[in-house]
Amino acid sequence: MEHPENNEAYKGLKVNKGIENAPTINPYLKKRIHRREYSVSEFVEGILKGNITILSQAVTLVESARHEHQVVAQEIIEKCLPFAGRSMRIGITGVPGAGKSTSIDVFGMHLIKQGHKLAVLAIDPSSERSKGSILGDKTRMEALSHEKDAFIRPSPSAGSLGGVARKTRETIILCEAAGFDTVFVETVGVGQSETAVHSMVDFFLLIQLAGTGDELQGIKRGIMEMADGIIINKADGDNVEKAKLAAAQFRNALHLFPPAESGWFPKVLTYSGYYNLGIKEIWDMIDEYMAFTRKNGYFEYKRRKQAKYWMYESINDTLRDTFYTNPAVQSQLEMTEQQVLNNEITPFTAAKRMMDLFLTHIH
Ligand code: GDP
Repeated sequence: MEHPENNEAYKGLKVNKGIENAPTINPYLKKRIHRREYSVSEFVEGILKGNITILSQAVTLVESARHEHQVVAQEIIEKCLPFAGRSMRIGITGVPGAGKSTSIDVFGMHLIKQGHKLAVLAIDPSSERSKGSILGDKTRMEALSHEKDAFIRPSPSAGSLGGVARKTRETIILCEAAGFDTVFVETVGVGQSETAVHSMVDFFLLIQLAGTGDELQGIKRGIMEMADGIIINKADGDNVEKAKLAAAQFRNALHLFPPAESGWFPKVLTYSGYYNLGIKEIWDMIDEYMAFTRKNGYFEYKRRKQAKYWMYESINDTLRDTFYTNPAVQSQLEMTEQQVLNNEITPFTAAKRMMDLFLTHIH
């Protein structure tokens, strides 16, 4: 049909008559925007049924800085705890570009094909500062992000590494209660975040690259010492020989370390995440480790040790928070600091003064 404006009588500018209140385009939209508030038991029930939407919302509460959210989150965690603990927790680290996301995608698909359910979490303390995380972005794991048996969650952003790590640990509990039997905790291989990840996983995997022959330089000894498996990525094309050489060097270097408490000697393997080569061998290694440490009791021992560690971490965090948010402390802290800077009092006197002030003002 000819558009009426093409008629001669309509040529030139004209003002259209406005319409009365526009009808709601989607009558259901309102309902969808206003997220339903679940009760603690609804949350727990949803999580235990494996409802991903409810799980995601519970994780959002865990990550929230608001006190009332934390109260609910802690109740949910408490109730989920009896159903948690049954997963294989694997820490994955490597410098940016090592191929973490490519590898996690491939490892994850390998596991899902075997009928596993996988949660991929991340610890990236830099995300707060840079306002954008380098890790855990959903789009980085192309295949996994379309899988219903994969739950991918970017790193929580919080001020401190301790805060981020605590939230991730709590999220592990919720994911396990939701039926995820494998949990990856990814971290960027450049800082202290490895220690945090190591303290919440059963197996710690270090992704390395073959380079110029001096790849052992620049890797923090501490990170290598934590690794239960070192895997050398990009063993494809011209790089295969270099990767094998690097593997031999790592094996030699590992012999110089004191034996691990687990009784397990870390393995070094080469693979290609991109070309999907050597993936099964990596999983065989992890299965072997799990069987080995379950048999010798180390698996349970480490989990208990980790639980103890988190108890003290949590106490330390709470103490620090209570101290620094105490109004009496806040009113005197800067002035006391200035006195130290001016050499008027010693740091120890200053610390004692602040502690005494705190102790007389807590209730
Ligand atoms: P991340 O920063 O550690 O997450 O690393 P990415 O997974 O983003 O990989 C960094 C780059 O290395 C990308 O361009 C990948 O395509 C490439 N890459 C990853 N795995 C392999 C591999 O096995 N072989 C080759 N040749 N390239 C790879």
